[in-house]
Amino acid sequence: AFAVLSWRKNTVNILLSRSLAQANAALAEKQVELERLAWHDGLTGLCNRTEFMRRANQELLRALRHEHPTSFLLFDLDHFKQVNDHYGHPTGDAVLCHVAHLLAHGVRTTDLVARLGGEEFIVLLPQTGLEAALQCAEKLRLAVQNQPLDTEAHGLLPITVSGGLVEVPPGVGADMTAAYAAIDRALYRAKSAGRNQVEVG
Ligand code: GH3
Ligand code: MG
Ligand code: MG
Repeated sequence: AFAVLSWRKNTVNILLSRSLAQANAALAEKQVELERLAWHDGLTGLCNRTEFMRRANQELLRALRHEHPTSFLLFDLDHFKQVNDHYGHPTGDAVLCHVAHLLAHGVRTTDLVARLGGEEFIVLLPQTGLEAALQCAEKLRLAVQNQPLDTEAHGLLPITVSGGLVEVPPGVGADMTAAYAAIDRALYRAKSAGRNQVEVG
């Protein structure tokens, strides 16, 4: 009888430790998923607004300390509401993913591209001054203009973006609140001046 009891106890222990291991694995998976949700934009796969602001502020502190310039680009799709209205939101979403891909692949791996929300994208260019940032902005604007999205239902959809650019010069202590306000004003001027262009703030 003792042998049977001890066999039962062992079996129960094995089963318990198995279900504990399964629960731990499920918890670890959830943890990874939660961490991803915290920095990730679900539609485009880019980094999200919160994570961008966190990393940009970190970079601004580093740049201040090392006296490097930092530049930011803000892009907004032109007349994007019309894309949704004419072709529907799923096609609008596909356009957003397409632009996200062009931006992410058009910059250096040390740069950071994020979706700020809606149809607005922001790019952090560490250790980059005004002139190089302007070149980068033009390269990205032209990449979007020259690579329309190829859709099965509606053929080629032309897309353009307007952009704002701001340089935080070496030794200037600015945070993202100030930098964002400045590029937003520059973007507004690019829209007013006729769109599909970049203005410097
Ligand atoms: P402008 O050239 O002045 O920027 O014109 P616009 O039409 O792009 O600007 P507006 O701000 O009027 O419209 C932005 C549109 O972006 C409104 C909304 O329908 C669309 N939008 C925002 N987020 C999403 C999204 O996640 N998916 C889709 N499909 N559309 C979105
Ligand atoms: Mg727009
Ligand atoms: Mg907008």
